[in-house]
Amino acid sequence: MKNEAIEQKVNKFMATIVAKNPSELEFHQAVREVIESIIPFMEEHPIYYSERILERITEPERVLMFRVPWIDDKGEIQVNRGFRIEMNSAIGPYKGGLRFHPTVNLGILKFLAFEQVFKNSLTTLPMGGGKGGSDFDPKGKSDKEVMRFCQSFMTELCRHIGPDTDVPAGDIGVGGREIGYMFGQYKRIRNEFTGVLTGKGRLWGGSLIRPEATGYGNVYFAQEMLKTRGESFKGKVVTVSGSGNVAQYTVEKVNEFGGKCVTLSDSEGFIYDAKGIDAEKLKFVMYLKNEKRGRIKEYADKFGCDYFPNERPWGIKCDVALPSATQNEINGEEAKILVKNGCYCVSEGANMPSTPEAVEVYIKNKILFGPGKAANAGGVATSGLEMSQNSLRLSWTREEVDARLHQIMKDIHETCKKYGTKEDGYINYVDGANVGGFVKVANSMIDQGAV
Ligand code: NDP
Repeated sequence: MKNEAIEQKVNKFMATIVAKNPSELEFHQAVREVIESIIPFMEEHPIYYSERILERITEPERVLMFRVPWIDDKGEIQVNRGFRIEMNSAIGPYKGGLRFHPTVNLGILKFLAFEQVFKNSLTTLPMGGGKGGSDFDPKGKSDKEVMRFCQSFMTELCRHIGPDTDVPAGDIGVGGREIGYMFGQYKRIRNEFTGVLTGKGRLWGGSLIRPEATGYGNVYFAQEMLKTRGESFKGKVVTVSGSGNVAQYTVEKVNEFGGKCVTLSDSEGFIYDAKGIDAEKLKFVMYLKNEKRGRIKEYADKFGCDYFPNERPWGIKCDVALPSATQNEINGEEAKILVKNGCYCVSEGANMPSTPEAVEVYIKNKILFGPGKAANAGGVATSGLEMSQNSLRLSWTREEVDARLHQIMKDIHETCKKYGTKEDGYINYVDGANVGGFVKVANSMIDQGAV
């Protein structure tokens, strides 16, 4: 089918999505990106049209939205909004993170839940897709305030989740501390010790390598992409954004593979350390962000490197870029600068950090581009491994979990190659990930009837 006809079908379908979900811009963006890959595939497999798969897969199975009242340290009542999107359970219980950030709204969580469906399918593990969170901002709150918020949030959420129903994990603003408080409250209300959350502490059911998994997994994926051009991380200059969980373990693995990371950021600016963020400096970042909960500027103050307030790191010359902060953090102009400066590999640790215009620049210039739903799937894959260990009531070694994670990332790369290789040999990982993730979910939906 000609490109024009495909575009018409995409636009027609998108018009219904926009009409049904007005003002959910990120959700529109995520759906468009997927159906641009899927519709050409469906033209060759019309059963997906007659089974109304697109209409079904873009409609969440369930959306929960609830009040979260909590008491701050001054004794005053605060009110936030809580959400859980149970998007698709065709291949397993809903699975996906919880995000606590003031920007959280329904559209952002629906985009994340939608992406999660395809990502989880790519991991080869039996997990459906979901996402949730709140507009609560843990920054600047005391531990006790965070605890009271988490307890209130879980008091409602616990009615809807369970180890065979829906298994949330962490995301932006939800790390080990928050998972601990929520797990404690779930256990107290339900009177059961089960694997209802992943990202748990090591002492109470957590898996080794889960904290490292998203960052490590993204570097493993990028390494597979580099291999297709006979390259590796050795000696490569790498820009990284963010300075949270994903960014930290990305730097650790790039260092291990002989690359040099020169940037990190947070929502207030970025640091540029031309000498590279070595193990000692990374230790400081982990202390700064995970314990002191300070700003990345303090890195520049401590190590005497450059700090750029209110800017993003994409103007820095690099070979590889690993965006690991948040959605839409690389726009079309920034993508052009990256490519002009010689960057030939972008692999997304964050979810949808590149705008559609940026993705267009990567593909047009035929650089290696790993979209988040493939490249950052290591996090949820290892959550899946945590669920398996919980069910077995066993704990695997660090080496065992890491080896499984590495193999899963290699397999995801192979799936992308299978569905994304074009006639000229270029691998379009966007098409590869979308179609590869879609087939398993869509076929399972067909098998299960019109539900
Ligand atoms: P963290 O909360 O640990 O860190 C997030 C980092 O991104 C912080 O440095 C934060 O800065 C920055 N950031 C957050 N929001 C914004 C914003 N609006 N503008 C600029 N910077 C921002 O989260 P994670 O590291 O866990 O998550 C990072 C990304 O990776 C997200 O897109 C997430 O969805 C994705 N991801 C995470 C997985 C995981 O296992 N944790 C799994 C798969 C994907 P500041 O502190 O100033 O807010």
